Amino acid sequence: MTILLNSVESRDAAFVLHPYTNASQHLKDGPLVITRGEGIHIVDSEGNKYIEGLGGLFCASLGFSEQRLVDAATRQMKELPFYHSFGGKTHETAVELAERLIQLSPVAMSKVFFANSGSEANDTAMKLVWYYHNAIGIPEKKKIISRMRAYHGVTIASASLTGLPNNHRDFDLPIDRVLHTDCPEFYRYGRPGETEEEFATRCAHSLEQMILAEGPETIGAFFAEPLMASGGCIVPPPTYYEKIQAILKKYDVLLIADEVICGFGRLGTMFGSESFGLQPDMIVMAKQLSAAYQPISALMINEKIHSAVVAESEKIGTFGHGFTYSGHPVATAVALETLKIYEERDILGHVRTIAPVFQRRLNELGDHPLVGNARGRGLIGTLELVRNKETKEPFKPTDGIAIHAGKQAQLHGVITRALGDNYSLCPPLIITEAEIHELFDRSTRALDDTYTWAR
Ligand code: PLP
Repeated sequence: MTILLNSVESRDAAFVLHPYTNASQHLKDGPLVITRGEGIHIVDSEGNKYIEGLGGLFCASLGFSEQRLVDAATRQMKELPFYHSFGGKTHETAVELAERLIQLSPVAMSKVFFANSGSEANDTAMKLVWYYHNAIGIPEKKKIISRMRAYHGVTIASASLTGLPNNHRDFDLPIDRVLHTDCPEFYRYGRPGETEEEFATRCAHSLEQMILAEGPETIGAFFAEPLMASGGCIVPPPTYYEKIQAILKKYDVLLIADEVICGFGRLGTMFGSESFGLQPDMIVMAKQLSAAYQPISALMINEKIHSAVVAESEKIGTFGHGFTYSGHPVATAVALETLKIYEERDILGHVRTIAPVFQRRLNELGDHPLVGNARGRGLIGTLELVRNKETKEPFKPTDGIAIHAGKQAQLHGVITRALGDNYSLCPPLIITEAEIHELFDRSTRALDDTYTWAR
């Protein structure tokens, strides 16, 4: 790429530190400058148009040109551009959004706490696990179990929950009190001759062994993203959550569902918890909550947790937690409008109608010589790229196979992101059947070219 002096590209290289980017490579390659969006497409500064195959970052559910969300933000900006909710202040959109979320919840919930990102909401959930156990007089019950390959964010606490090596390496993480149990991914971790249900039993057994080894009186909570999206679109096997939840119940361990990606229709249900039969004590939401038009996240808590917050407030004199922009009026207004659009346009019904087409095309690519495993649910899926289909031999990290596949996809007009060795797709929920075919046709060509390159 030729980078002109004083161009956006050269100023980017000079001033911006990019999230999740190889900082060294970026100085050589420069950025891809995105200038506008249109439906499920984005357009770069050279006029190239791409299908956003990952919905931005699993979040732009309504695409990139939804006027109603622009109008909702504008209206709110004119009326009340900011107010906070500290010290008992409030405003109507935050109240209405909280009320709506409680109505939509798949299990009985009591209160909603607003934050700005998934990481912050997960941090809040972790703090509440500790706060709750202090409030009820069992302060030793503080350890939190997450899973290997889980993704829960990047702040110090949520990055500790995350079970991916690159989020820990050289950041001196994870913090103590956080443990990681088995990843429920059958293709990689199922043993020869083992059925999916036997594998689920083994995962649950392993969790129980961890709890017993640590001492059940020290284990406070278990975090689960229903379908583990960023870890490689891991769809836990049948009976897994049933067995896991039985163990959690047996040892009185709280369950927190991280619905940051699954929430709001991704799997064809309002929440992933419904899709997998989860009964969480807290639910974390973000991304599709506002269709990504505003940064906002939310944590729903049940009455058990809320009454502990009330008791601690009586003892301490306040609930000492909150963000300046918790429940920001513009963000809550946009989120409310997003939920209205989901309902009025029956987005969930749309997902359920077209998901079979998406999953059929995904599974067909399972036969591709580069693909070891195709897996997904609803409108999310991944193709795990392998060196040897028969033996499941993976590529070496230095091969950069998924990065190369991502570059090929870009050349064929699809934006996706390398997640491990996975070619992942998670398009805006408004995608049509014809656009799904286009997405997979282009992806097939990208994989063909990647295969030729890798041989
Ligand atoms: N939880 C899950 C399941 C996520 O996928 C993400 C982000 O991708 C997060 C938490 C963190 O959210 P954020 O990037 O908004 O902090």
